[in-house]
Amino acid sequence: MKIYTSLFPPIKGEIGPKTEVNESKCKTCNSLLESNFYKKIEYVFDDWNGEDLVKGIGCYLVSDRLKRILEDKKLKGISFKEIIVTKGDYFKFKSKAYQEEIPSFFEIVIVGTSKGPDTWFKKGDICNECNKPSWAISTEGIKAMVKSQDNQDVIPRQVYRDSWNNEDAFKLEDPADPIFTENFINVLKESKVKDVTYKEAQWV
Ligand SMILES: [Zn+2]
Repeated sequence: MKIYTSLFPPIKGEIGPKTEVNESKCKTCNSLLESNFYKKIEYVFDDWNGEDLVKGIGCYLVSDRLKRILEDKKLKGISFKEIIVTKGDYFKFKSKAYQEEIPSFFEIVIVGTSKGPDTWFKKGDICNECNKPSWAISTEGIKAMVKSQDNQDVIPRQVYRDSWNNEDAFKLEDPADPIFTENFINVLKESKVKDVTYKEAQWV
């Protein structure tokens, strides 16, 4: 089973003012205490061209159509939360939109977890108060995430095979993007989800 990180779905708008976030932070280290940053997302679409998977800041959103497919396929490691869909002031339907109204969208909450070596992020001290480590992006991480997507010289995202819980989507401990299995990618391909490109991660 191959694994991938960064699906690079298109950004189609921005997080809106009705968005509610989980703000409770550790008083000592300032880490977020909830694993999920958003309580409820409002996503303001600038346009819609039939995309079923879109990206916001620190979140992936799926259309009602894709949510139903992912549920039917019983993919593991994800759950869904309703979001508020709003059209921006200059919103446009584009020619590839497959229906005349913008669909409902849901946040994919990644509940799967796994572990990997500290390559893109270096683990710092563990906080006495909340037991969470601090994370600092490494030079390799900057190369991998900030520089060109197809840069071949970067260390791929790495996952310990022994730590995998057979989930199709999972997060590592560090703050980088989640990992998706080949199984997950194949469902996206079969369902003709648009504009999704991905990068292989590596078992170690
Ligand atoms: Zn803390």
